[in-house]
Amino acid sequence: MLRDTYVEINLDHMAYNIRKIRQFVGENVAIAAVVKANGYGHGAVEIAKTIMENGGDCLAVATLTEALELRNVYPEYKIFIMGYTPDEYLEYVIDNNITQCIFSIEQARILNDLSKLKDKKAVVHIKYDTGFNRLGYRDCQESIDEIIEIFKLENIIVEGIFSHFALAGDEANKKQFNDFMNAIDKIEKSGNKLKYKHICDSISAIDYPEFNLNMIRPGAILYGLKSFRKNDIDLKQVLTFKSKIYYIKKIKKGEGVSYNYKWKAHRNSIIGTIPFGYADGYPRNMAGVGMVTINGHRAPIIGVICMDQCMVDVTDIPFVKEGDHVVIYGDGSNNTLDIQEVSKLGDTNKNEIISRITRRTPRVYIKNNKIDKILNYLCEGENESVEYKR
Ligand SMILES: *Cc1c(COP(=O)(O)O)cnc(C)c1O
Repeated sequence: MLRDTYVEINLDHMAYNIRKIRQFVGENVAIAAVVKANGYGHGAVEIAKTIMENGGDCLAVATLTEALELRNVYPEYKIFIMGYTPDEYLEYVIDNNITQCIFSIEQARILNDLSKLKDKKAVVHIKYDTGFNRLGYRDCQESIDEIIEIFKLENIIVEGIFSHFALAGDEANKKQFNDFMNAIDKIEKSGNKLKYKHICDSISAIDYPEFNLNMIRPGAILYGLKSFRKNDIDLKQVLTFKSKIYYIKKIKKGEGVSYNYKWKAHRNSIIGTIPFGYADGYPRNMAGVGMVTINGHRAPIIGVICMDQCMVDVTDIPFVKEGDHVVIYGDGSNNTLDIQEVSKLGDTNKNEIISRITRRTPRVYIKNNKIDKILNYLCEGENESVEYKR
């Protein structure tokens, strides 16, 4: 692995989660599995197969580059860019048979002309804004008229329409959903058929199944993260983040640790140094609140968190020694901090905690309860991870 700080990805749990989601939504709802941000830190390329073989219908990403990374490895999977792609890059969308989000007639025309030149058809989903105010056609009659114009473009296939919940409460959700349905109704009454209609992300898909229509876009729940409030499904956290103690030393009461001596020993202490830092995606603002688990005991992170290392107070951990395993993010068992607890301490959400883990940290994939593959982004030639490039 060449590094002792790594992320373990349990593909058995991933498969379990997607099957549970499939069970929950039934056979008539397509699952556009959201694998943007390198599959929320899990490694988009590596998890895609598990997702698609266990009930996923399509892979959804935010950017063209994310789509191309997947397309290079998977010529057959359906890939959908939920975000905006600038005009000058639309050619890549066509060349690589990627489904594109569209919300203007100007862009649709550009896509249509390019497709005509290449003798191809571009598949698009219309983004319709029902109040999130990020991307999408604003909710009005002119927008509907324009969308109907897009249907007339010969080399464009309008396959779907989608919107996004702001999740601002039951009433606000209901209003967004109703506005979305009214728009769909008008478009379909004009004689145009929309194969896919979707508005639900993870939370809304579980809490408001009545809004699932015939496609959902789950991200967080694929990875075993639960944020819903009303309903529940059984999920297993996929990711754990681990390291090892590299160095242990005794310091005297009054000595400081790390930059600016923000932490000072209030007693004679034993300090462990662990090789992970904010450049691995660990939040720097965890200083003073963060903890790791060593031999089933929690150890507080002390002092300023460095780019590549941090120090923990292990004075109260019996028999602690160099080389001991450290759990940075666990699943809550054996006194570990799960992603939920980490996100609370870091004053952020669970998606941010996992998606920010950088490519410096190797990924170790577990399948059928054993190591299936080690992916070291920085030196792919050094292990089997080159396989995925074939
Ligand atoms: C990221 C994203 C999702 C998935 O969100 P989760 O909360 O992780 O389920 C769904 N739809 C869109 C448009 C997104 O950008």
